[in-house]
Amino acid sequence: MAKVIIHDTVDPAAEALLAARDNMEIVTVARDERERLRRELAEAEAIILRYLPLDASDLQAARSLKVVARHGVGYDNIDMAVANELGIPVACIGDANSVTVAEIALYLMLAAVKQGVAYDAAVRRGDWLAREAASTLELYEKTVLVVGFGRIGSLVAPRCHAFGMNVTVCDPYIPQSRISDAGFKPVKDFAAGLAAADIVTLHTPLNDETHHMIDAAVLARMKEGALLINTSRGPVADGAALAEALASGRLFAAGMDVFEDEPPALTDPLLARTNAVFTPHLGGLSRECFRRSAIVCAQNSLDAIDGKLDASYVVNPKVL
Ligand code: NAD
Repeated sequence: MAKVIIHDTVDPAAEALLAARDNMEIVTVARDERERLRRELAEAEAIILRYLPLDASDLQAARSLKVVARHGVGYDNIDMAVANELGIPVACIGDANSVTVAEIALYLMLAAVKQGVAYDAAVRRGDWLAREAASTLELYEKTVLVVGFGRIGSLVAPRCHAFGMNVTVCDPYIPQSRISDAGFKPVKDFAAGLAAADIVTLHTPLNDETHHMIDAAVLARMKEGALLINTSRGPVADGAALAEALASGRLFAAGMDVFEDEPPALTDPLLARTNAVFTPHLGGLSRECFRRSAIVCAQNSLDAIDGKLDASYVVNPKVL
């Protein structure tokens, strides 16, 4: 009998896939049951994990664990040093949520140029003449700088192209031919690309190099009236500096799915900016993606139990 823990809520498709297998014990642990989680981990061979922490003592309690199946692509909620030390593979969901995040980036871009939230509010309060301000912008013929051309950035770029935008891409870590072969303009010099862009959209991982990659100095070098879209990780942009750039009107607008602190404090000056549009880190949470993610997690769990985990999902393949 192999035990698999489903921690927190996932789409029922995961349980259905696991239950189709003989000799499977499926244990569901709610988000606030931390003590029980540790007890169940002692015998578990796999755990499907949302965004809640899996710390050193959780992992040390897990004597038979063959995989942590992360329901997402980030893994900063897992103590990776201990997972590596104990030889526990951490498997993510690959590109299962890439298109979902790319669509959120385009949604935020459109909502920001069209000031969707403000005009929606105007209609609801009977302010029909708000339209006379004629203050929305078009994406058409704007220059967008896509920062990071991985799974998500490479899906955002063609969607921007479809809107008639001039698409430039900055990703120094891949062959530049990958960008030009896809039909976009590679930008080697981030500062120059930034200064030429009407819209900057962030798709890098969060690491020491990208932490506050967009800070006050960088915002000051952006075009007057430019837009910033962040669906990557909150700390890639300095939230306080961004709030100031929005308040001063230096930036026309921003669209953000991610924040330095999540959820942001209600006193966060960003939340007072009406020229910003927000979503609560739901980049990967469409109905379709929630189901896809659950299925990939369940399959990764089964594969790990069978000793044939697909290494392309594993973020610490050295332990395999
Ligand atoms: P990926 O690893 O496929 O791509 C990241 C790309 O960024 C790589 O091509 C890499 O070369 C490039 N890069 C790294 N440092 C860079 C730098 N300094 N400048 C320019 N490019 C740089 O990752 P992905 O799956 O496309 O995810 C991108 C981001 O989106 C990550 O931060 C991820 O955590 C985030 N994400 C957010 C959500 C959400 O719900 N909002 C969901 C999934 C992923």
